[in-house]
Amino acid sequence: YHAKEKGNRYLFFNKEMNKQAVKRLQVENLIRQGLKEDYFHVYYQPKMSFSTGKLVGMEALVRFISPSGTLVSPGTFIPISEETGQVVEIGEVVLRKACADMKRWIDSGLMSGRVAVNLSARQFNLPNLIHRIESILLETGLSPNNLELEITEGTVMDDPQHAIQVMHELRALGIQLAMDDFGTGYSSLSYLRKFPLNTLKIDKAFVDDAGTSVGRAMIDTIITIARNLSLSTVAEGVETSTQEKLMAEMGCDVLQGYLYSKPLSSKELAHFAANQQPVLKKAQ
Ligand code: C2E
Ligand code: MG
Ligand code: MG
Ligand code: MG
Repeated sequence: YHAKEKGNRYLFFNKEMNKQAVKRLQVENLIRQGLKEDYFHVYYQPKMSFSTGKLVGMEALVRFISPSGTLVSPGTFIPISEETGQVVEIGEVVLRKACADMKRWIDSGLMSGRVAVNLSARQFNLPNLIHRIESILLETGLSPNNLELEITEGTVMDDPQHAIQVMHELRALGIQLAMDDFGTGYSSLSYLRKFPLNTLKIDKAFVDDAGTSVGRAMIDTIITIARNLSLSTVAEGVETSTQEKLMAEMGCDVLQGYLYSKPLSSKELAHFAANQQPVLKKAQ
């Protein structure tokens, strides 16, 4: 190291960069190993209809579970896997598992409705996306009517014209489309009406602010936009009954959050669906 000659700041900068690069490489290697050895599992978070109080579907959320049982949330590996491209393979593992689980639950009469799977920008932009999704549906036997895909504003605003075309192809298959984390990105209203969406998911940040008058106004605005475009609304991250009450008063159709349940393993989800009551605080 000659860095010291150049001053402490340089040394610090170098060390930080090195630490980051090492961590990135470690995560990348772990992901590779996880894909090979099947460490990626799907957890499911229930979505509740406000009008019936019943389970109307769930969101599939990926978890990395090491052989020692350590459960890793996607925040640590999804961003890196987006960069390395590994998110495509992870996403397909999740889609395949989610479709297979849902097919089983529908066949056994346990579930109806839809399973929602998050689609990364990398996946969305694959030239053979439609073919890949069709193959997974064929392979698992799930009807496209029981599948919903969640995409973010960032994914579709990159190349809106192309996105509109891909979205139409997905809709033509019978798949439903939701805009995830709505309001946090920078999608323009003029495009929003051209996107063939079914649902807007109101980001947790707005739900957190539902108690303030500005927060309420924002949510009201989002719900009004959704109504005008004939889209349904889902509130993300509902944690308290006060938030539930406020969201319901404002006319939000579907509620999702820790108030009802954290994301559950497939076994726990089956139990939740059978009992239609939260098995709370079991998984994260
Ligand atoms: P997201 O799609 O917006 O998912 C919602 C996140 O909010 C999940 O975090 C969920 O566990 C969390 N959440 C739900 N209700 C509550 C609540 O009441 N309170 C709080 N504090 N959090 C709540 P998770 O599972 O850690 O996932 C984080 C993000 O990682 C997801 O955000 C999504 O962008 C991404 N992700 C997860 N699974 C996948 C996947 O299979 N593929 C891709 N491409 N991305 C995924
Ligand atoms: Mg999502
Ligand atoms: Mg979301
Ligand atoms: Mg969110």
